[in-house]
Amino acid sequence: MIDQHTHTLYSPDASKTTTFLDYVNQAKQRGFSGIMVTDHVDFDCPDPLFQSIIDYTHYFEDVLEAKTKSNFDIRVGVELGYQRQSLGKIKQLVQTYPFDLVLLSIHYIDGLDPYDGSYFKGKSHDESIQRYFETVYEAITQCDDFDIFGHFDYITRYGDFENRTIALEDHQEIIDSILLTLISKQKGIEINMSGIDERPKRAYPSIDILKRYHALGGSIITIGSDAHHEKKLGRHFDIAIKILKEAGFQEIALFKNRIPVFYPLDELL
Ligand SMILES: [Zn+2]
Ligand SMILES: [Zn+2]
Repeated sequence: MIDQHTHTLYSPDASKTTTFLDYVNQAKQRGFSGIMVTDHVDFDCPDPLFQSIIDYTHYFEDVLEAKTKSNFDIRVGVELGYQRQSLGKIKQLVQTYPFDLVLLSIHYIDGLDPYDGSYFKGKSHDESIQRYFETVYEAITQCDDFDIFGHFDYITRYGDFENRTIALEDHQEIIDSILLTLISKQKGIEINMSGIDERPKRAYPSIDILKRYHALGGSIITIGSDAHHEKKLGRHFDIAIKILKEAGFQEIALFKNRIPVFYPLDELL
């Protein structure tokens, strides 16, 4: 098993002390076979915190040093935040460096941040969800330089709403368009376990969406903790496996050199 969504001190919102070797030590304790680091790159980010972009030449040197010291399987992914104006920079980054996995995520919609609430101003619950999914559809249609779409219904974390569920039938057309596009482009989705500890108190995406992805023929699934501290590595993976089985999946994909290798869920952990 490998946790395929983790952040180190190279991510501006992660623990300032969490190094590659901290994750290696945690992974060894958990009996995992490797680690995958997926630090943030959000080009053209409105939030000043995320405006400095990682120097990947230095980053890969640092990874090599950690690999040499630990003799452990350290894979390098990246979590790219999609914005329309950043497509060229995303392509260039992905084509320049030898990533093992590229996660594509939406952190901003129309330049607005759901985290600070500005995105929700003047939108109903339904409108905020619909516009988010339209942006997801645009991202995965316009961008080819990724492997996995991250935290699928991330929008349910934010907004001042009681209701954090998405009724599939209310957004069926756009969700189906997204899932069918991902399937036809041979891209996958992740089950992201960070939502259990935070809002919406469940994994992303909801099981209904996982079931729908499976029913439409989707088969590329990764599991990620979205850890921003080494102590969160592999959090709730037992629950993730249960949910995936219930949704109909029998295998997960572990990525290396951006190629998925499939392992039966029963043989993991
Ligand atoms: Zn993210
Ligand atoms: Zn993340």
